[in-house]
Amino acid sequence: MSDVFADLVGQDEAVVELRRAAAAAAAVLRAGAADRAPALITAGPASGAEFAGPAGGAEFAGPAGGAEFAEVDGGAAVDGVDPAAGMTHAWIFTGPPGSGRSVAARAFAAALQCVHGTGCGECPGCRTTMGGTHADVRLVVPEGLSIGVGEMRALVLRAASTPSGGRWQVVVIEDADRLTEAAGNALLKAIEEPPPRTVFLLCAPSTHPDDISVTIRSRCRVVPLRQPPADAVAEVLVRRDGIAPDVAQWAAAAAQGHVGRARRLARDPEARKRREAVLAVPRRLTGVGAAFDAASALIEAAEAEAEASVTEADTTERAALETALGAGGTGRGAAGAMRGAAGQLKELEKRQKSRATRAQRDALDRALVDLAGFYRDALTMALRAPVAPVHTDTAALAGAGAQKWDAEGSLRRLEAVLACRAAIEANVKPRIAVEAMMLALWKG
Ligand SMILES: [Zn+2]
Repeated sequence: MSDVFADLVGQDEAVVELRRAAAAAAAVLRAGAADRAPALITAGPASGAEFAGPAGGAEFAGPAGGAEFAEVDGGAAVDGVDPAAGMTHAWIFTGPPGSGRSVAARAFAAALQCVHGTGCGECPGCRTTMGGTHADVRLVVPEGLSIGVGEMRALVLRAASTPSGGRWQVVVIEDADRLTEAAGNALLKAIEEPPPRTVFLLCAPSTHPDDISVTIRSRCRVVPLRQPPADAVAEVLVRRDGIAPDVAQWAAAAAQGHVGRARRLARDPEARKRREAVLAVPRRLTGVGAAFDAASALIEAAEAEAEASVTEADTTERAALETALGAGGTGRGAAGAMRGAAGQLKELEKRQKSRATRAQRDALDRALVDLAGFYRDALTMALRAPVAPVHTDTAALAGAGAQKWDAEGSLRRLEAVLACRAAIEANVKPRIAVEAMMLALWKG
């Protein structure tokens, strides 16, 4: 009943476009199959080639029979699919965090692997893709702050192989804005001369040159996603996660359109506690000392949250590597093996440190988004704008702030939070950026 696009909340236009493209892609495969084995499909004039000896056979088995996208039009016409909505080799899904960029990319990947070509959600192609086990779908989820050239080259190489399931090789790159320049160039080469059955799905916040290089952008079709409305987010929390409607409504508003965050707030008491601590910040800013204390508290809370999220994975990985390297061995050669192993352990530690840094940044950014929501509430109240508050539970406090600061003071504070986010994004040391923000919030 619910297909692979069901969880893509509030993105009706994008879903229509992706369904069309999936249908066109399926038509390409059918056209390709018909070209390669005409005798199997119909006994028309083409079947004469069957008797024309090896030369004729080779003609159909050759590259000309491959499913090039140039055939989209022909295949599409046969199936009554709009040729203009045809398939493309490279896509970029853009939108604010939580809008569902990676959800959209995965759903589209599933629709491409779907045996019905629709993303039915039921067939093995859909299920294995959504479960992350499809042999022809590679998912790149950067754990550190960037995606390196080595990783990208290996990926491009594997993506060029023939799909084992007979449909498409799909490469999903989450956070494509984290590609290093060299990695971007490696990817660009693959996108410029794509193997006939390979599809690249990139996710990035926007198509701004800071996020994605102009040359990559120019080779991709862009699917813009928007911040889903709170009602749509609440609806999916109720339907899919079985969350009570009033809790879902509150969480959807508090998460400001971020679906994953809304689900966490609705389900995880720790996440709710951390949010409450962040929203207590405006009340606590009573002086310079208090501002610095608040900055420390915010940074330390982000560190603690990040540590909780990566510690388990770190321990498991280290244990697995040590087992693979034969740690604890006492036989001849064990000491030498351990010396070589030290290099691999160091490499693992480096990767884990990079992942921890990323987790800290993400946790801090979530806190800043919550804080921005509070000052946005104060601003809309000062302006008497007819919009619902982001944080219903601190609306009274925001109202008091609105009276005290007026619209101008509320706006300055909101801008201080946004400036802090931008500074951290631009690699300013988080503690320095947060301290500057707290002082600005206190002074106004
Ligand atoms: Zn399916």
